Amino acid sequence: MVIQTFRTVRDMRAQVTAWKADGLRVGLVPTMGGLHAGHIALVQSALAQTDRVITTIFVNPTQFGAGEDLDSYPQTETEDSAKVADAGGHAMFIPSASEMYPSGFSTRVVVDGLTDCLCGVTRPGHMDGVSQVVTKLLNQAHADVAFFGEKDWQQLAVIKRLARDLDIDTEIRGVPTVRDDYGLALSSRNGYLNAEEIEIARKLNVVLKKAAYDIAAGGFAIDECMKAAKALMKAGFDKVDYVECRDAETLELIDKADGRSCRIFAAAHVGRARLIDNHQVN
Ligand code: AMP
Repeated sequence: MVIQTFRTVRDMRAQVTAWKADGLRVGLVPTMGGLHAGHIALVQSALAQTDRVITTIFVNPTQFGAGEDLDSYPQTETEDSAKVADAGGHAMFIPSASEMYPSGFSTRVVVDGLTDCLCGVTRPGHMDGVSQVVTKLLNQAHADVAFFGEKDWQQLAVIKRLARDLDIDTEIRGVPTVRDDYGLALSSRNGYLNAEEIEIARKLNVVLKKAAYDIAAGGFAIDECMKAAKALMKAGFDKVDYVECRDAETLELIDKADGRSCRIFAAAHVGRARLIDNHQVN
């Protein structure tokens, strides 16, 4: 199936303006491509909640650090477009790097506080790059609603905050994480893993679920649970970036279960992949 593809902001905006003039609500699904069932769940949520859905593909260079996988990130535009078309999506927006960052581009977007922890620290500059590109995509599309995955919980929190702080007139909605049969959160980077590494990757959600259960059940100190979780992860993963229990909204570190809604966040490396996941505690 063929799907309409916009490559310039001007063309995409013209379509959004036309849809809105017809009274249609527009949904936006930003991605970096390498689409899997997790991305398609975002498209499906958008289709269920809006009338017209634009899926974007842009591998944003400003959110990759030195030595990360920018150059080897999956580039599967044809397959991605077909998947979105099959799901019923209405259009793709696939801008070039020069369309997004014309020469002389010099504006940064930094969300303080929420980015001072987790991936904001272990991938320096990453959250600023995400904030920058998502601010641009939201401003470019003027969609009614934009959809982001809960797998990237910190990213979702940061985007909700910047949309609020900058008066961006697009509602930000989260979509639950899509997992494989073993609970592994789907990720474009899972394709980097061999069979043995996938077995290790699948332990991540099991460890988080156990820690979440132990904390919710009471009787275990949170830092003890985190230490135990880290030890379990270290037994398989090449490197553990963090395992932490934090407030679901403010992302403040939590050392005592006090009725606040909290989640366990983890990031770890296996083979060529860096995996992240999070689980609700209560
Ligand atoms: P990415 O292409 O990895 O930048 O992801 C694009 C969007 O898809 C982000 O909002 C992600 O949080 C979301 N996403 C990625 N993987 C999943 C998943 N397994 N389940 C739900 N959403 C996901």
